[in-house]
Amino acid sequence: MNNEHWRQRDLDVLWHPCTQMKDHEELPMIPIRSGKGVWLEDFDGNRYIDAISSWWVNLFGHAHPHINRRLAEQAQSLEHVILAGLTHPAATELAERLVSITPPGLERVFYADSGSAAVEVALKMSFHYWRNLGQQRRTRFVCLSGSYHGETLGALGVSDVGLYKQTYAPLLLEPIVVPSPDAFERAPGMSWAEQARERFQAMEQTLARHHDEICAVIVEPLVQCAGGMRMYDPVYLELLRQACDRYQVHLIADEIAVGFGRTGTLFACEQAAITPDFMCLSKGLTGGYLPLSAVLTNDKVYQAFYADYSESRAFLHSHSYTGNALCCAAALAVLELFEQSDVLAENRRRSARMRAAVAGLEDHRNVGDIRQTGMILAIEMVDDHGRPYPWQQRRGLAVYRHGLDHQALLRPLGNVVYLMPPYVIEDDEIDHLAGVAMDGIDRAVAIR
Ligand SMILES: *Cc1c(COP(=O)(O)O)cnc(C)c1O
Repeated sequence: MNNEHWRQRDLDVLWHPCTQMKDHEELPMIPIRSGKGVWLEDFDGNRYIDAISSWWVNLFGHAHPHINRRLAEQAQSLEHVILAGLTHPAATELAERLVSITPPGLERVFYADSGSAAVEVALKMSFHYWRNLGQQRRTRFVCLSGSYHGETLGALGVSDVGLYKQTYAPLLLEPIVVPSPDAFERAPGMSWAEQARERFQAMEQTLARHHDEICAVIVEPLVQCAGGMRMYDPVYLELLRQACDRYQVHLIADEIAVGFGRTGTLFACEQAAITPDFMCLSKGLTGGYLPLSAVLTNDKVYQAFYADYSESRAFLHSHSYTGNALCCAAALAVLELFEQSDVLAENRRRSARMRAAVAGLEDHRNVGDIRQTGMILAIEMVDDHGRPYPWQQRRGLAVYRHGLDHQALLRPLGNVVYLMPPYVIEDDEIDHLAGVAMDGIDRAVAIR
């Protein structure tokens, strides 16, 4: 059975996510046979370094022996059980661990089954909290320009990524969209922190004017990933925390992509020393093994729902697979891996290596920016006049194709080529990826 065999069978029946299927008339689908560490292997025996951690979920590589062992053990005792009325040790232990490693004050864990579902939970909980307090006027949410919080209707509603959103606009919430502190948009000579402080003024004004109708502000701390790996200074989060306290509005930190060490600290909020009212976790939570998400919140929120049943205050939200035991076991195994070695310190060295490996692009006329936060490194391609290429030109696709021909799975976001590899990548593999990315960029910008 080779690639062609699986490709044909696949294209007869599957509809792939986030894909114009017609592209595959030209673009070969890659059927993967196996994964090990940072490597993926297809059915023709070609190998690829997973430079994007399979959509940012993988932390410790594919087929990790420790996670595999934990999963097998869990499957022997309990695969899944309804989490209403019943519970199981993996769900309890994981909740205890999450409370102990997240910023102080987050004391309650609510499970869901995807990142988007976690965002839905946080939005509904915040809204419902204010109802339970008798504040019926609060129905609105604030998000940042360029933000991404998932693709179910509620989560998409508080996102600001045009391509994904336009079509569904009539179905969506109407958030107040405030300009992002995105450092790439700063004026020449400005620091990231200055940009963050200046952009914060719009947030301050929005909260001053609308706070009594706002439930919560939702942000992706430090890196707006799907919006093009746009990054900002932690001071924005500090200011936002202070303002949310002042105006009595919730702060939702969507750490679905940036949590679990991606930004250099275990959670991005740590870099601003803040505790949000809700923290959404998913993606890396199970090391890229299984779909699981968690929303953490504080005791004050929890208590606002705690009452006699007849008062109708309970949070009546559930998913069939809430708190699935296999998912929780995988997550516990991942947390054990964080304990077994100083992953964050090792990643500091890896991050420096990644940055050094792309230094050759610093004076490239078609590279508008090289930015990095921890284990996320992004390169922004620009035209000869320093402007973004029109998205229809699909320059990123040329980098993607070049990568596949050279043992690298790179999947640019528009004009942004990024490296976001698993935390087990070796130096020579980093150098290889950087080389392929640089050649791919040369190729993509040469297209006339
Ligand atoms: C991926 C992502 C989501 C959505 O998670 P899914 O599991 O794909 O539903 C939400 N927020 C952020 C910041 C993400 O990167």
